[in-house]
Amino acid sequence: MKSNSQSKPGYYGKFGGAYIPELLFNNVDELQKNYERIIRTTEFQKQFKTLLKDYVGRPTPLYFSDALSAKYKAKIFLKREDLNHTGAHKINNALGQALLAKMMGKQKIVAETGAGQHGVAVATACTLLGLSCVVFMGETDIARQAPNVARMKMLGATVIPSLSGTKTLKDATNDAIRYWINHADDTHYIIGSVVGPHPYPDIVAKFQSVISKEIKIQLKKQTGDAEPDYVIACVGGGSNAAGAFYHFLGSKKTKLIGAEAAGMGIHSHETAATLMVGSVGIIHGAKTYLMQNKDGQITEPYSISAGLDYPGIGPLHAYLHETKQATYYAVTDREALDAAKELIHLDGIIPALESAHAFALLPKMKFKPSDVVVINLSGRGDKDMETYLKFIL
Ligand SMILES: *Cc1c(COP(=O)(O)O)cnc(C)c1O
Repeated sequence: MKSNSQSKPGYYGKFGGAYIPELLFNNVDELQKNYERIIRTTEFQKQFKTLLKDYVGRPTPLYFSDALSAKYKAKIFLKREDLNHTGAHKINNALGQALLAKMMGKQKIVAETGAGQHGVAVATACTLLGLSCVVFMGETDIARQAPNVARMKMLGATVIPSLSGTKTLKDATNDAIRYWINHADDTHYIIGSVVGPHPYPDIVAKFQSVISKEIKIQLKKQTGDAEPDYVIACVGGGSNAAGAFYHFLGSKKTKLIGAEAAGMGIHSHETAATLMVGSVGIIHGAKTYLMQNKDGQITEPYSISAGLDYPGIGPLHAYLHETKQATYYAVTDREALDAAKELIHLDGIIPALESAHAFALLPKMKFKPSDVVVINLSGRGDKDMETYLKFIL
């Protein structure tokens, strides 16, 4: 991140770091020592840029919504990450890390996935770059996410069911880490959000920062000013928000707004609003906010959207929250569904349920008519059709 947010390597204020078991030291150390140098090479930059342009379809449009602007009395733009290949922002990071792995001499990728979106992005990147791909996924999630499991398999990935615990994301994470420890020589582990031990939050934020880089150029062209008054994004681990905020960090003008998933409500125990109900601790190798009970046990998160259903949050967001450089709100399942319905009917865009959480903040904000507002539309809603048919038809 920029100088104002990364205080010392791997830390955002007191958050971040690499709190890992000794068995992982070598793996993480190799990555820490190499990632910045490789990412900075012209060869990496050239290949990454070309892939983002010709394969992913970037730059994604910055679309001015007449209808939302009229309704909420501000100038509302949508950053169309839903138009990326594979349907969301996740491909930006998956491709960047697969390329990084290749330049580090790795032939194999391991990843874990919950809803399967990250798994599909990783399997896609691996196919493209000729890397072999192993994805761990909880057995329960495999049953719930059949279409994404089929996609990964079709793309040539080996999907291995995790059979321990609740057979969901955290069990798949444990299995993926164990696999990485045992295959350190030829394998890179691709984390899908700005979470995990240093250097992952920094790597993922850098690869997603293309979002705000493009917003600046596009806004300048469309309004004459590169800096909006607001940038709004949903926050699970926080990667699409980190990408949308990145080049506005430190701006005196731009207010950065994150939408966490409140689930059934922040006092319901059925929630994933980590900053609202969580406290500081260590999760997946980083010091940050997490949802935990009095004994420090991580509590089970809940959100209608699988991509926001995470009991932690990236250390960058913990830091932006604590220093009030960004403001975070909680959005319930119902509010997100209503916002999705509105976007579908006003603009003809079916958003991912995750992204709908960002749109649900529109009625909660107090805009001036001159305000320029950018909402990051992180993904499309194809994967959520079943939920939409059940709740908003
Ligand atoms: C996975 C996902 C998210 C949540 O992840 P972040 O790291 O918080 O961005 C948000 N939107 C979409 C469409 C996703 O697939």
